[in-house]
Amino acid sequence: MAQVLEAVTSMNRCPFCGSALRRKYNANPRRLITLDGEYYVLERVSRCSNRECPGYETSFRAENLQAIILPRKIFSLDVIMYIGTLRYEEHKTYEEIREDLGNKGIRISMGELTNLTMTFESLIKGWHEEHIQEIKEKLGEYILSIDGKNAGSFMEKDYKELGKAVK
Ligand SMILES: [Zn+2]
Repeated sequence: MAQVLEAVTSMNRCPFCGSALRRKYNANPRRLITLDGEYYVLERVSRCSNRECPGYETSFRAENLQAIILPRKIFSLDVIMYIGTLRYEEHKTYEEIREDLGNKGIRISMGELTNLTMTFESLIKGWHEEHIQEIKEKLGEYILSIDGKNAGSFMEKDYKELGKAVK
């Protein structure tokens, strides 16, 4: 069973004027599969309560959630990074990766797996080092916030090495 995850910005106040934030709208619920399990994500998007402020028209998203999701993907970034690690660092076959994910309770079709591997490749190729560092930090915070124990081994991976591997 998927757990319900409610996501909202970590900011308590408007970054422009300091007024309280209010709900702007609820994003469409989405299914999200992470290394830690499956979630049914309900995101509340906020805006500033002050009509005179530019923050009134702004949509403040839930940063922790936005950092780990990709448009139109139900698999989170940690799953994609994990697949890339198995593929390019441990040189596993797609079958072995499927089995590994299956042991974590993640069922994935061969088509989805090859698709996510391509996503991983384009992410690594497209991002400069500082972005990878940024993602690594965000991912680290996210994983730490769900389960501190999982963070260590995965986050110690060297993404620069992964970047070289797919060039
Ligand atoms: Zn404001």
